[in-house]
Amino acid sequence: MQHITPDWLDPLQLADICMSARDGTVQSALTATRPSAKEFAILLSETAAKRLEEMAQKAHSLTMHHFGNTVSLYVPLYLSNYCTGGCSYCGFASDREQRRYRLSRDQVRAEVLALKKMGFEDILLLTGERTPEADFEYLKKCVEVASPIVHNVSVESFAMTADEYEQLAKAGCNSITLYQETYDPDVYEELHRWGPKRDYAARLEAQDRALAAGMRSAGLGALLGLADPVSDMIALYQHARHLQRSFWRSGVMISFPRICEQRGDFSPPYSINDRQLAQIVFAFRICMPDVPLVLSTREHPAFRDGMAGVGISRMSAASRTTVGGYVPEDVDTGGQFSVSDTRDVAKFCQMLESKGLDPVFKNWDAVFQA
Ligand code: SF4
Repeated sequence: MQHITPDWLDPLQLADICMSARDGTVQSALTATRPSAKEFAILLSETAAKRLEEMAQKAHSLTMHHFGNTVSLYVPLYLSNYCTGGCSYCGFASDREQRRYRLSRDQVRAEVLALKKMGFEDILLLTGERTPEADFEYLKKCVEVASPIVHNVSVESFAMTADEYEQLAKAGCNSITLYQETYDPDVYEELHRWGPKRDYAARLEAQDRALAAGMRSAGLGALLGLADPVSDMIALYQHARHLQRSFWRSGVMISFPRICEQRGDFSPPYSINDRQLAQIVFAFRICMPDVPLVLSTREHPAFRDGMAGVGISRMSAASRTTVGGYVPEDVDTGGQFSVSDTRDVAKFCQMLESKGLDPVFKNWDAVFQA
């Protein structure tokens, strides 16, 4: 396992420790004031799983304390599905047969306006790896189009240089999201068959470059199902802690994408059930009480409903994983993966309100960036 900092503990060794955790150590981990990576690992143990209800209650109370009765909402907008990457698990990989398309600047404006009309003020712009059709300049222009229309623009795209992150921040991008996918370098090498994403280290250090370049926050995650989930989550926890220590003025957000159906013949080697995923979310909330934890529409409605406000504080809604997709006359490209929660914004907000939660569409304004 590649180290990001000198004090990075081997996630595989910690995973072994967590496997033999006793009830007393779970109790200490549940009440630790500054939980270590080892204590986080213990909360992922089977012994801790027997106390899932207690973990849920603690996660719920911490979420209420730090985020109130709110769930902030965002929406993804795929700009392009061109990609030079060969990620085995992705429907946009360059060997997948599908119509390739990218939005023009006018189309981006129309999509963002359509999303604003739906109520969204927080938009995540996505592309595949750099291609001549969708390169850095294209992405920057799309940020310039979107940022005057909505209050928060984030980008989930290829790993960039520090200079590119700085340019993107100046163009109006507040945040980047980049999943390491897996922190196991051997599995990483096997799954990233070709393309720039094969460079594990360049990806691992991308959030450092982005935050050093002036991004307000950085999102991270691992694609659950690609490798041993316990050691991947332990590595993710240490990655997030490293960013918090190094960039204490900035924010981090953590997502929990669980691999789901996509174009191609990839079948994930690990399967993570709802209880395991819930335990992971609760462990992060207990150990990182004030970090936004994100759940997307990859997950089925019943699970999302149960997790909203119980650990999870940020959610996507009404998402499309095709290019564009929010303007009726859009070209229908294949999606990057299948969405499980297909409810529209009104229905999703209704669900949140029925649980006493307030959907928040805007929780950031550039005026705060003094
Ligand atoms: S995960 Fe990203 S880089 Fe990999 S094939 Fe999909 S779009 Fe391309």
